[in-house]
Amino acid sequence: MLSQPPNLGRVAALVRQLLAELGEDPDREGLLKTPERVAKALAYLTQGYRQTPRDVLNGAVFESAANNMVIVRDIEVYSLCEHHLLPFYGRCHVGYIADGKVVGLSKIARIVDCYARRLQIQERLTEEIAHAIREITGAEGVGVVMSCAHLCMMMRGVEKQNALTVTSSVLGSFREDAGVRAEFMSLVR
Ligand code: ZN
Repeated sequence: MLSQPPNLGRVAALVRQLLAELGEDPDREGLLKTPERVAKALAYLTQGYRQTPRDVLNGAVFESAANNMVIVRDIEVYSLCEHHLLPFYGRCHVGYIADGKVVGLSKIARIVDCYARRLQIQERLTEEIAHAIREITGAEGVGVVMSCAHLCMMMRGVEKQNALTVTSSVLGSFREDAGVRAEFMSLVR
């Protein structure tokens, strides 16, 4: 079930309270419109809760006899970690081998956004993208590799500025066939 859009006024009131709690004066000039802006930004960054992959595809699934590996590399990903509500961002590579149906290439990036614009952990985001593409296309195999920098690690905690987290999810022939998996990994490296 899709969730309702957040009530922006209520979210703004909470942000105002948060500012005060953090020791700020929410009435100083620079912060006057901040609660409203934060509310809008958060609504935007979590719009994935109000979308399904099928909505964002908008019917762009086509019959095709081809069953070569299709790869879309370097899709930009921006998401929010569910533990700290801080951004993580990086690149995502998606590959699949079609079984009769292919999806418009630009739509792959839309599917990524649909799941990235929620509170996430990178591992689950990677899995969800792979499963959505498999379910929509009936592909015989799907692979997703993602490498991201996490601000919650970079700005606080272990403060590892250069650490990238790499996750992958392989389904179907990408999981079962070492040759297919190796081809995919070499193409996205
Ligand atoms: Zn985090």
